[in-house]
Amino acid sequence: MLRMESVRKTFGDSVVLRDVDLEVAPHTVTTLIGASGSGKSTLLRCANLLEEIDDGAIWLDGEEITDPRVDQDAVRRRIGVVFQAYNLFPHMTVLENITLAPRRVHGVNRAEAEAHARELLDRLGLGAKAGEYPDRLSGGQQQRAAIVRALAVRPRLLLLDEITAALDPELVGEVLNVVRDLKNDGMTMVLATHEMGFAREVADQVCFLDGGVILERGSAEDIFGNPQQERTQRFLRRIV
Ligand code: ATP
Ligand code: MG
Repeated sequence: MLRMESVRKTFGDSVVLRDVDLEVAPHTVTTLIGASGSGKSTLLRCANLLEEIDDGAIWLDGEEITDPRVDQDAVRRRIGVVFQAYNLFPHMTVLENITLAPRRVHGVNRAEAEAHARELLDRLGLGAKAGEYPDRLSGGQQQRAAIVRALAVRPRLLLLDEITAALDPELVGEVLNVVRDLKNDGMTMVLATHEMGFAREVADQVCFLDGGVILERGSAEDIFGNPQQERTQRFLRRIV
């Protein structure tokens, strides 16, 4: 589904990703863990072509998306992204937020876009909030609405960056439940998270980033139960 090969990303003099290889199989969940500044968000941004890579290549569904001839907007349309701070447009209702991209970018007609949006809102427990403005929603509800918006374009792949980081602890669970449900539905996801218990529970693959390198990867049991690298052990000891 998604494949990164020898990806290198620099900002000025600093190398933020070096020699990153990543393979994400369809219908699997990959979690990215690692200290602040280790490169998790940058990796997700590169995968979505929000950042241009310096070296290496990235494939989505067998197509090399880092090929300069590729239509980047078309690639981004296949990838749903949700970031830490829910980026709903404040002057639009929840329903308008969700149907914007399907209508404007994907050419879906209004009735169809709204029907799909309402179906997703119901599924994520927000059926009653379609007509509300974002500031009338709790943080957890806003973040769930942001997930609905990402899903509304029927993405092949969902990238989630610290989607619970800005939430009060009591609201974290409801957002993680949504991710759990999406996993059960077979959605392919890559998520960066500091929620170690969750990273362990949902992951088919865990990648530990350290200084821009995927230092260690494996199943959740491997990484959390029996980490091989000393730095991974130290990171997990500090967190857990
Ligand atoms: P966190 O857990 O805090 O979200 P992260 O693992 O997501 O951290 P990144 O945001 O990917 O880390 O940042 C990796 C490194 O790249 C950091 O040293 C950061 O300062 C640097 N960096 C990220 N974006 C830029 C940018 N636009 N310009 C310069 N440096 C950047
Ligand atoms: Mg980050």
